[in-house]
Amino acid sequence: MPFKCERCRSAVAEVFIPYARLRLCPDCFSRFYIARVKRTVEEYKMFGEGDVIGVALSGGKDSAALLHALKQAYPNLDFKSLHVNLGIPEYSSHCQAKVEKLTADLGVDLHIFDLRKELGISLDEFKKTQFKHKICSVCGTIKRHVFEELAQKLHINVLATGHNLNDMAAVMFKNFIYGHWEQLVRLKPVLHPQAEGMTRKVKPLIKSPENENLLYCLYNEIPFREIDCIFSLEVNARKDIKLLEVLAKDNPHLWHQMLNRFLEIMPMLESKVQKKPIKRCQNCGFPSAHEICAYCKRISIVRPMRNLVSEDTVKP
Ligand code: AMP
Ligand code: ZN
Repeated sequence: MPFKCERCRSAVAEVFIPYARLRLCPDCFSRFYIARVKRTVEEYKMFGEGDVIGVALSGGKDSAALLHALKQAYPNLDFKSLHVNLGIPEYSSHCQAKVEKLTADLGVDLHIFDLRKELGISLDEFKKTQFKHKICSVCGTIKRHVFEELAQKLHINVLATGHNLNDMAAVMFKNFIYGHWEQLVRLKPVLHPQAEGMTRKVKPLIKSPENENLLYCLYNEIPFREIDCIFSLEVNARKDIKLLEVLAKDNPHLWHQMLNRFLEIMPMLESKVQKKPIKRCQNCGFPSAHEICAYCKRISIVRPMRNLVSEDTVKP
């Protein structure tokens, strides 16, 4: 006999939530998922009336689930979505098509920043530079900068991303092991603007496990990418997740426990991290710890005509 859903007690349960010992039918699962996103937004006061909210869409399942759930939780709020097309052959056009379909289905404005069109470069050009083994980190630097540029243009003051529970717990764990306190404190659910005119960064899926984001997309027929980025195969970023997955087999609460413990010690860590004085990049004017920001340094390498920085001044 199939199990009945423990919420509605009528439909057949298809999902088992191990940390809550809950069996749910697809509809009750979606309600459970949306309610958690809403609770997370409210618990950390991620946004409210008067905020202009941008949702960063990669084409992947996490950010796709995020936009869909936010629209269900806050039907009267106006979300703008942002997508960066990185010019990675095959992959980027595939991702853009998914994001276009999703936003059309949901009736959400989509703003695309295409690296090729806007800057005449693509991410894979970094394969020929000293960053060839750090493409994912270059990608992160570019995206963070572009998000802010788009946000300024669109008057967005809150930027929501689809970082999920498992990724966040694993990255926090790694930063903890290496004592990278500065990076660790930047993983908070809400990151207030670094300088005037910058966005507040929020992570409404910080409590949502990756597999639930996937299930939510499947049950709600949400389009998301079906191919992996060629560069993600080169890095071993998922190694820490694998290790934690082994531990989580015997302890379904592990991911939430890790997140909660890190959030508990966050204020202590913040006081440990010395705040560096924020300068402005001499080229783009964005906040930077150096005269020229990491973004401008990297772009100038594959776009030498701008000749901002000579190769020998660039330290990866
Ligand atoms: P990642 O660092 O690739 O795990 O992505 C984390 C989050 O950043 C995603 O959930 C999205 O919200 C956002 N993001 C990543 N890549 C892009 C992209 N190309 N365009 C817009 N947002 C992105
Ligand atoms: Zn700059």
